[in-house]
Amino acid sequence: MKALRIDKEPTYHCELVDVTEAVFNDTLSPEGDVWVDVAYSSVNYKDGLAITGKSPVVRKPTLVPGIDFVGRVRRSENPLWQVGDEVILNGWGVGETHSGGLAQMARVKGDWLIAKPAGLTAVQTMAIGTAGYTAMLCLMALQNHGVKPGDGDILVTGASGGVGSVAVALLSQAGYRVVAATGKANEHAYLTALGAAEIMDRALLSAPGKPLQKERWAGVVDAVGSHTLANACASARYGATVAACGLAQGMDFPATVAPFILRGITLCGIDSVMAPKAVREAAWARFADTLDADWLQSLTTVVPLSGAIETASQILRGEVRGRVVVDVNA
Ligand code: NDP
Repeated sequence: MKALRIDKEPTYHCELVDVTEAVFNDTLSPEGDVWVDVAYSSVNYKDGLAITGKSPVVRKPTLVPGIDFVGRVRRSENPLWQVGDEVILNGWGVGETHSGGLAQMARVKGDWLIAKPAGLTAVQTMAIGTAGYTAMLCLMALQNHGVKPGDGDILVTGASGGVGSVAVALLSQAGYRVVAATGKANEHAYLTALGAAEIMDRALLSAPGKPLQKERWAGVVDAVGSHTLANACASARYGATVAACGLAQGMDFPATVAPFILRGITLCGIDSVMAPKAVREAAWARFADTLDADWLQSLTTVVPLSGAIETASQILRGEVRGRVVVDVNA
């Protein structure tokens, strides 16, 4: 079987290898009670960090990267799953502490899997992938906090990336007026086609700003962190909700409490990795119920397994548009 393999010795590197099932089970994935023939995985920002070694995402001396995948159960020692079941997985440390989806086979704990929603094709589930499912968690957070389409503009940062692109499309489909902040002048038409009502230059958000600014946003989906998140909070309207899920600009949060104590805004942290199963299933079910196949296809590129290594560098340089699906059998 083909797999991407990260080795930390002699120096950190990731390469495409051919391994036998025995070697896979002995050295790359010694734990797990369900074996899955992987159909597709995808390249998320965290995969970029893992494959390049730019951040210490990988916690084992060797493993297969890939934080999500879809496939069919090949062998199961877990009563939850039978041979032939179609399953998806994202998070739970897969691709970080446990071998992941960038291989033709994965071996995982059955408890981590969820059934592939019947309304989605395999390739669509990975076009959504961790990034898209996180965008859905952000939308659900805004809605759970009472943000309604008539309340005002919703800011999406990192808009041309994976989380951002799906967030723009989901929010506009749900009737919100979306302002897409991007650094890519050449992606304005793309973002407008996804449903953005207005485009904003991300430079207006990325430098240090005042603690309280003109009230503008009824809600925010932020994939960027750092000054961008601080400025988004500072310009959120009274009672607004800000969903923070990413750190593409930085992990810091150089803000003050002013927007919280003077405007009563809410900052919601969004985590996809350890989200409970019921939350995951609810998010995936919403995609199955509401998906517009055309917009999903418009933001998706498919690459072969070998192409994931180059895509990993591109995503860290902020050069990837939308979502990149990996066909592990190509
Ligand atoms: P992408 O690389 O696809 O998108 C990130 C986007 O952020 C880029 O396309 C770019 O958009 C913008 N960006 C990049 N660098 C900077 C910068 N220096 N300053 C401001 N904006 C920048 O990544 P994903 O969409 O897959 O992930 C986005 C973030 O969300 C990542 O930090 C990732 O780790 C995080 N994430 C978190 C999850 C969770 O569970 N909390 C799950 C999934 C992702 P543009 O050019 O349009 O400005």
